[in-house]
Amino acid sequence: MEYLKRKILKDGEIKKGGILKVDSFLNHQLDIECLNEIGKEFQKLFSNMDVTKILTIEASGIAVAAISAQYFKVPVVFAKKTESRNLSEVIYVSKVYSYTKDKTYNIKVSAEYLDKKDKILIIDDFLANGSAALGLLDLAEQAGAEVVGIGIVIEKSFQDGGKKLRERNINLHSLVKVEFNDKDEIIFR
Ligand code: 5GP
Repeated sequence: MEYLKRKILKDGEIKKGGILKVDSFLNHQLDIECLNEIGKEFQKLFSNMDVTKILTIEASGIAVAAISAQYFKVPVVFAKKTESRNLSEVIYVSKVYSYTKDKTYNIKVSAEYLDKKDKILIIDDFLANGSAALGLLDLAEQAGAEVVGIGIVIEKSFQDGGKKLRERNINLHSLVKVEFNDKDEIIFR
């Protein structure tokens, strides 16, 4: 996706620990034109799949999932990381290690929002070691729902999340795959 590559080269910043900061358009300030392009691309990539629901994780997956959902015309469910009294009594829970915060979270979804008849597309902003994606897969499995694919905006190909998911024969599409070279420049694979 050339548009996204240009955006990352122009506005992305490499931070310590293999982190790519894209706060100016994806993770803090939101560039809606860019999010729309991302949503249209996901819709094209998964157009042959029957999708009934998009599943993501708070907080940074919500914007990209919500804008993308307009092109699929399906609801978005986001797994909650924070404690909430509003969650119903029956919930699905999984554990996710956050790469950027170096912390393990319980992620939770109320059972009423994932059904065994659902065909789920998981969407997230980044794929690093795959913990978030595997946690979301686990929630869908607990519900007995089918995961028809995973759409990632930026896959960091120097981490092994992509390998883990592809080994499980998951229909994974990453819009761009990035690496950093020893001059701290962003390289697309
Ligand atoms: P994983 O669970 O695959 O190790 O990491 C993916 C999650 O961590 C994403 O939901 C994303 O929010 C966050 N993440 C991982 N690497 C990066 C990064 O380089 N930049 C940003 N902004 N977020 C990242």
